[in-house]
Amino acid sequence: MARFRCPESFSAATEDLSLLPFNFERAGANQYLVANMVGDFVRLSEEELNRLVDLQIRPGDGLYEKAYAAHLLTGTNQKAQRQLLAARLRSRMSFLQQTTPLHIFVVTLRCEHSCPYCQVSRQSTDRSRFDMSQQTAMRALDIAFASPTARIKIEFQGGEPLLNFPLIRKIVAAAKQRSGKKLDFVIASNLALLDDTVLEFCKENNVLLSTSLDGPADLHNKNRPRPGANSHELAVAGIRRAREILGPDRVGALMTTTEASLDRVDEIIDEYLQLGLDGIFLRPLSPFGFAIKTKQFAKYDAQKWLAFYERGLRRVLEINRQGNPFREFYAALLLTRMLSDRPIGYVDLRSPAGAGLGALVYNYDGSVFASDEGRMLAETGDDAFRLGHVEHDSYNSLILSDKLIGAISSSLTQCAPECSTCVYESHCGADPVYHHATQGDALGIKPLSAFCARQKGIMGLLLDILENSPEDAAILRRWAAA
Ligand code: SF4
Repeated sequence: MARFRCPESFSAATEDLSLLPFNFERAGANQYLVANMVGDFVRLSEEELNRLVDLQIRPGDGLYEKAYAAHLLTGTNQKAQRQLLAARLRSRMSFLQQTTPLHIFVVTLRCEHSCPYCQVSRQSTDRSRFDMSQQTAMRALDIAFASPTARIKIEFQGGEPLLNFPLIRKIVAAAKQRSGKKLDFVIASNLALLDDTVLEFCKENNVLLSTSLDGPADLHNKNRPRPGANSHELAVAGIRRAREILGPDRVGALMTTTEASLDRVDEIIDEYLQLGLDGIFLRPLSPFGFAIKTKQFAKYDAQKWLAFYERGLRRVLEINRQGNPFREFYAALLLTRMLSDRPIGYVDLRSPAGAGLGALVYNYDGSVFASDEGRMLAETGDDAFRLGHVEHDSYNSLILSDKLIGAISSSLTQCAPECSTCVYESHCGADPVYHHATQGDALGIKPLSAFCARQKGIMGLLLDILENSPEDAAILRRWAAA
């Protein structure tokens, strides 16, 4: 009598196999890009995909092992694969446990700049009308402290928030007096009004500075006019001074791409390098505020922006190959999603959307919005994302408002047409405010969406580099692990 069964007895029978959820898209004449339910990618030929879908595979035929390793397949009665996918999905979605970590206080709508792409529709006059009052600020703090997350970030925006610096001081002091939450503070400023008093205050209270830098002087000043035409000079001086007083990692800069930027990405990146900044966030214009009124938004399409982005990313990789660990931050965010299961809280790259669940915005007049872009829309007469008012609403009534629940539930990528079958869905985001602004619908028609075109373009580019350029792929993997 044989003591052991024959080897075939230990093989899974094909009739006991089940497919796990996956999405796929054609990626060439005889090739498909396939993503499992947590977004791991694998490439299959048409013949392989057909055999997989028909379960015409057997242990030892190569495709079985490939599909099993890529979590596209499991034994019908096996739980391990499903449990592993569930654990990974839980980790990826755990940003939902940190409800509303970001609270944006628009302390004034006044600004001394007059940028044609301004997304917030700044005002230049009437302090009493466009500054937030102390009473409004304290009510907004009550709401912020009622959010369940243990750590909140309070970000001051405008207009130019330093035009109402006394109120920033009061809010920071009042927040620190309250107990029960860890606090981070950020001032988003053009730095034109930065002085030693502000820097001293930032140092004492551990306040981070975030500013705008669009590139070399002529480009920046064209984009960001102010009396004296010295926006660039003041921003650069402010960044240098802030790095000196607060530390190199306590000031960051963001750029916005206008039509005039499209041919100049190398110079823009060099400007960031010269200032010793550790990376750049290549950002397109958003369809809000003056960017729409002045028609800046319509001046280039997604394809032009993608060409700009690719050139910029390749320049950043070249800088890395020369030994400088300079990053492109949007790629780094996407790579974290594509190459790890770490949750990222970035509000535009999540589904359910970050509106309200990721951030609340308290406008100067006490109106509360689901996102910064939502308040930008309201400044041009569209109240779709105005959730309520600090005087009449609580945290719960804002978060549970029909408006917010409607926008979030109707924009879930997990079940949206086009997104739910998209190979990039696991790494993308629902952006209801963008789609409402551009298409009048929170869900949006994705084949017509510039957001969608950009997402597909960038993720396709990153995959191409990861698969075909080993030296650059190693750099991208480092960004994902940082
Ligand atoms: S927005 Fe576009 S890229 Fe993103 S999941 Fe939807 S279809 Fe895919």
